[in-house]
Amino acid sequence: MFNTRPRVVVIGGGYAGTVAANRMSRKAAVTVVNPRPHFVQRTRLHQFAVGNHHASGDYRKLLAKGVDLLVDTVTRIEPGTRTIRLASGGTVGYDYLVYAVGSTATRRATVPGVEEFAFPVAEFEHAERLQYALSSLEPEAVVTVVGAGLTGLETAGELAEQGRRTRLVCSGVIGPMLSEKARAATYERLADLQVEIIENARVTRVGPDGFTLDDDTVVESAITVWTAGFGVPELARSSGFRTDELGRILTDETMTSIDDDRVIAAGDCAAPSGEPVRMACQSALPTGLAAADTVLSRIAGEEPANLDFGFNGVGVSLGRHVGVVQFHERDDTPKEQAYSGRIASTIKDLGLKAAMAGLRVEALRPGTMRFLEGGRHPSNTATTEDRSRTEQPMA
Ligand SMILES: Cc1cc2nc3c(=O)[nH]c(=O)nc-3n(C[C@H](O)[C@H](O)[C@H](O)COP(=O)(O)OP(=O)(O)OC[C@H]3O[C@@H](n4cnc5c(N)ncnc54)[C@H](O)[C@@H]3O)c2cc1C
Repeated sequence: MFNTRPRVVVIGGGYAGTVAANRMSRKAAVTVVNPRPHFVQRTRLHQFAVGNHHASGDYRKLLAKGVDLLVDTVTRIEPGTRTIRLASGGTVGYDYLVYAVGSTATRRATVPGVEEFAFPVAEFEHAERLQYALSSLEPEAVVTVVGAGLTGLETAGELAEQGRRTRLVCSGVIGPMLSEKARAATYERLADLQVEIIENARVTRVGPDGFTLDDDTVVESAITVWTAGFGVPELARSSGFRTDELGRILTDETMTSIDDDRVIAAGDCAAPSGEPVRMACQSALPTGLAAADTVLSRIAGEEPANLDFGFNGVGVSLGRHVGVVQFHERDDTPKEQAYSGRIASTIKDLGLKAAMAGLRVEALRPGTMRFLEGGRHPSNTATTEDRSRTEQPMA
């Protein structure tokens, strides 16, 4: 089908984009477009914010030989001409495009003051800004973390372990995805760290010196960290692709866009069958490999396989020495089985190191990395019918 090596552009050099680029590197001329010259370990950004990890990686070690890195931001995808537009002004052509732009802080912050006064930790520059703000803060000043999902819990744990007076506010209970056993261990650790917890309270306004709750209580806070909700970049939607409500590009189970079979997606920004998997490094790597395998199958003129992977659990670090690990069924349903304490902290840290080691292995020997299979049973699979309906130029 191709006389020369097909050109594949990967938008986004995170976990999904990097592993996909590596897997495709032997059969295609791959270019990764990423806004920074270094890899960001987003899973460590709460640590970067408090200054105990660099949360970075060296693309020279993480990208396979022959993969080009273009430091730029894609501003538009033009499927009609198979080109992408860059913030620097140029364009790049592709035969296949892997869309792996990841996620970010919530894009539609409806709470007044969040954009101006709160500190997210979803991206490298967010964590850098928070680190800077913390560096000039009086030791006795209170830092509030809004949102007690995994990111909020980890951020609060890290701050408190460093001796910061830390408060955690959430609209329900902490760690809603945790089992009773795992949540009990989390309460215990946060109590040891003297984290003040306010549950079942909604923040309705954020200001420079604090925030207001839904019962009109005004709470003072030197820094308010916002971890309530993730969003995804608007690029797919603004380029005319169909997305889910959040902006994740809609794909079939082979990770192919339902609008264009030259566009394959992976990681946090993809919604296969409109039923996205949980946003996680744990899913970004296997979906990145699945996207790459789909491209390789198409290049070879073969039918691509459906996404097939299973989760194994969630790990929460509550500072550097204590954590909670909860095991899951492959379909991501929590089991009762959980560990806490130092062992859980070690398991969690090993998981993060294994992800980075996996990227290096796939860079050195493309095709090596494997994951747990099973667990995904989407109720509807948007495949051929949906795609054939829409293989026309997009608005
Ligand atoms: C503080 C924190 C802790 C976390 N801890 C865990 C954890 O313990 N376990 C876990 O499984 N998950 C964790 N996560 C979630 C995990 O980091 C994400 O799910 C994962 O990074 C998604 O990988 P990805 O490759 O899809 O996207 P990303 O890692 O976000 O990479 C996307 C890349 O695309 C780039 N990009 C975006 N737009 C453009 C554009 N227009 N042009 C070019 N490039 C672009 C971005 O800058 C980025 O480099 C955590 C997240 C945070 C914020």
